[in-house]
Amino acid sequence: MNRPVPASDMTAAPCPAPTPLRQRGQHEVFCGLTSVIWLHRKIQDAFFLIVGSRTCAHLMQSAAGVMIFAEPRFGTAIIEERDLAGMADMHDELDRVVDRLLSRRPDINMLVLVGSCPSEVIKFDLSRAAERLNEIHAPRHRVLSYSGSGIETTFTQGEDNFLAALVGRLPASRPDDSLSLLIVGSLADVVEDQFERIFTALGIDDVSFLPSRRSTDLPSVGPNTAFLLAQPFLNDTAGALKKRGARHISAPFPLGEGGTTAWLKAAADQFGIPAERFDAITLPGRERAKKAVDLYRDRLAGKRVFLFPDSQLEPSLARFLHCEAGAEIIEVGTPYLHRHNVAEEFALLPDSIQVSEGQDVDLQIDRCKAADPDLIICGMGLGNPFEAEGRTTKWSIEFVFSPIQGYEQAGDLAELFARPLKRRAALAVEA
Ligand code: SF4
Repeated sequence: MNRPVPASDMTAAPCPAPTPLRQRGQHEVFCGLTSVIWLHRKIQDAFFLIVGSRTCAHLMQSAAGVMIFAEPRFGTAIIEERDLAGMADMHDELDRVVDRLLSRRPDINMLVLVGSCPSEVIKFDLSRAAERLNEIHAPRHRVLSYSGSGIETTFTQGEDNFLAALVGRLPASRPDDSLSLLIVGSLADVVEDQFERIFTALGIDDVSFLPSRRSTDLPSVGPNTAFLLAQPFLNDTAGALKKRGARHISAPFPLGEGGTTAWLKAAADQFGIPAERFDAITLPGRERAKKAVDLYRDRLAGKRVFLFPDSQLEPSLARFLHCEAGAEIIEVGTPYLHRHNVAEEFALLPDSIQVSEGQDVDLQIDRCKAADPDLIICGMGLGNPFEAEGRTTKWSIEFVFSPIQGYEQAGDLAELFARPLKRRAALAVEA
């Protein structure tokens, strides 16, 4: 059984991620369109217009639910058969849809065109369409695009593609601006508010979040910007920010007490915050987080966990489970291993853990069954068949939809893992 790793140990120099097992075959992940679900909730004056098929529209409606009392902030421009057959000019059709939408919804400040498999198959150049529409409708309505196609993207890459496109629209900071902090990655508003309060208490006043709640509040960026990723899957966004001159602050991700402390400390060190001040400001939150996780430790400690590749949060979830909840990790799979972004997480995991990148799902299922873990973290398509075999699972997409970052959410994160184990134990007693 593992003991919790003290946060001070979480700031040790990272070692590179271990060599992963790479297998290519059938893989099971949602497409990047799914990112619209949390992005449209986050940016309150944006509209996400998916240019896709009826299949895309059905996926979005069933995954996001239909809003009955509010005007929707996403929709699908359906590519019909005559578009696919090249009998209609897609640009004219899209112009008509956008004109109708923007005249009916003047409250939309940012229109985001989201590409799909069908728009990619017919080679519809969405970025050119977005540029043209932006020339027509800006500055009242800004238009940009990104790809959420399932041919190329997993669901969290949708957010990465969107933010990378958004970085291109950020204003440049002035050379004489003082150092500012940019937190990159969509966070629940409640989590964002908590972090903002901590940064302010530490004395870091110039803090912005990307994406912001309103598309008109875009932060400026330049060589005097230091950025901290809040999500590990934002590789292209990090590259786009570096190209704008911003510098990346490496850190573990803010999951659990130790991860949150190490993440905040990395920022505090950049801004020269004294260690005593940092300790005094973070101590109450650290203690609350430890107590909250301790409530679930008995249920999680010593449990053997297998993580299938899905959300790209897997290395961070594994580190939390191992370091703070005392679980044993058998395999941590991830669709893509962004070594630089997650090096600090792997530095805290034992070398004996099997790391896998990509997937041949049948072979991975065989490995999982042979290991017979206590808990399987996987996509929805695998969860039900495993449950039917009497195995205990948790859908990884829930970790993307739930607020799990920061001190106040550490207990909720532990509870997300503990809940299926508790349910399975109850079923065993009844049986
Ligand atoms: S983008 Fe592709 S994978 Fe996603 S719902 Fe549309 S057709 Fe399916």
